[in-house]
Amino acid sequence: MRMPEPDAGIIARRATIARDLQALVPGEGVIVDEDALRAYECDGLSAYRQPPMIVVLPSTTEQVSRVLRYCHEAGVKIVPRGAGTSLSGGALPLADAVTLGLGKFNRILDIDYENRCVVAQPGVTNLGITTAVQGEGFYYAPDPSSQIACSIGGNVAENAGGVHCLKYGLTTNNLLGLEMVLMTGEVIRLGGKHLDAGGYDLLGVATGSEGLLGVITEVTVRILRAPETARAVLMGFPDSDSAAATVAAIIAAGIIPAGLEMMDRPAIHAAEDFVHADYPLDVEALLICELDGPEAEVTHLIERVEGLARNNGVQTLRVSESDQERALFWAGRKAAFPAVGRISPDYYCMDGTIPRHALPTVLKRMAEMATHYGLRVANVFHAGDGNLHPLILFDANVPDELERAEAFGADILRLCVEVGGVLTGEHGVGVEKRDLMGTMFTETDLMQQQRLKCAFDPGQLLNPGKVFPTLHRCAELGRMHISGGKMPFPDIPRF
Ligand SMILES: Cc1cc2nc3c(=O)[nH]c(=O)nc-3n(C[C@H](O)[C@H](O)[C@H](O)COP(=O)(O)OP(=O)(O)OC[C@H]3O[C@@H](n4cnc5c(N)ncnc54)[C@H](O)[C@@H]3O)c2cc1C
Repeated sequence: MRMPEPDAGIIARRATIARDLQALVPGEGVIVDEDALRAYECDGLSAYRQPPMIVVLPSTTEQVSRVLRYCHEAGVKIVPRGAGTSLSGGALPLADAVTLGLGKFNRILDIDYENRCVVAQPGVTNLGITTAVQGEGFYYAPDPSSQIACSIGGNVAENAGGVHCLKYGLTTNNLLGLEMVLMTGEVIRLGGKHLDAGGYDLLGVATGSEGLLGVITEVTVRILRAPETARAVLMGFPDSDSAAATVAAIIAAGIIPAGLEMMDRPAIHAAEDFVHADYPLDVEALLICELDGPEAEVTHLIERVEGLARNNGVQTLRVSESDQERALFWAGRKAAFPAVGRISPDYYCMDGTIPRHALPTVLKRMAEMATHYGLRVANVFHAGDGNLHPLILFDANVPDELERAEAFGADILRLCVEVGGVLTGEHGVGVEKRDLMGTMFTETDLMQQQRLKCAFDPGQLLNPGKVFPTLHRCAELGRMHISGGKMPFPDIPRF
């Protein structure tokens, strides 16, 4: 994985730049100490590391604006960072860039029950929003497994999802407004508490923009009334085909569960060893299906789900009898990534999406790839959305295991595209999937996307090296020819 060649001229001016930034963000707002910079050297994709040149921690929009304006004029690159839990390397620093941490933006600014929304600073954690409103019977629906740590600003930048997104939508479906600072230092507001706005849907453009278009300094999200009842059904199957058939049958029956998740045998065992959720250990695949709504409706839907599971050969089935038991069913799933981290020195979490009907084929092909690459894989995924999270287990200390894991991961993502799916479901492109963009998008698609980036950041100073496998500056766009997903002269530097 190659990153843009660092600008030696900028690195040589590091001390001056740090001093200038210190004047803009006084106090403890600028970090230059080598040891302290180490804390920022990677995000959740820890296979790739690079200490930043400088870290700046502003605490007001005015400070963000001043920092961006200064960096714009001085030609210094910026990497925005929330909580650093990205799994695609979106917050990976650059040697010649300022990492702009939004951790001090940690306040809820307004809770508006009448308009059913919360206005929060971007560093507030995802779970922090629900925590702030649950006393009044409300919650924020998108719930990434990292919700205890990840920031709402990072969620917007990655268009994060979670187990509840099958029924309640991704971040983009729950976002009402943003305040965003452009690279020039200008502050813009997109959307608001109202439901629709005139003009282009720039709120939609900013969502999932991975820190390439602007720095989000305020977020307005929709909150929902907590359902009257929520119960989960835990189903163990003798093979993943019957679990996949049950997923398809539930959706085909017109049932939209609040969550419909699947784990394979390695993931079940790792999660059970870690959180003791009382998962069955003699099954090959586990489904967790949550139904929510009025009690009578939930009771009726549970009966239907049970019937569909039995038709497809379910081996064990339990329905949660209390909120504690429901939370326990989910505890294993939500802790599946760290649980897998306990059984392997390293793991590489992939994130592709496929049409649901392709699930058995993709699982079979992935098992064949695991044999081919000589690496184990554990599968945890949002089965209802067809969003896969294969966790490739490897040991970075063993020569070539990281390279094999990367090649295995790339093959999985190509397979997702081949069966009619997409490269990412919720973790974003970052650096991880950057060089695979050509397998999914045509030359024209990629150029148009990059022209949009250029409209916001013509100097390409915001998070460069992420998302676009690009060779050209904005002024030169239109001259690069990518044919059949293949770059011309793939061995020359890309930036
Ligand atoms: C154990 C684990 C489980 C996870 N489970 C899920 C899951 O279920 N669903 C899911 O969707 N993701 C999941 N993730 C991935 C990750 O938590 C999400 O992508 C999350 O949205 C990242 O938020 P963050 O605050 O950590 O952002 P960061 O990692 O700091 O940054 C992510 C990207 O957003 C940009 N960014 C961050 N803040 C801003 C801002 N204020 N303005 C502009 N750009 C910004 C960065 O430049 C970067 O490109 C998981 C991660 C881990 C480690």
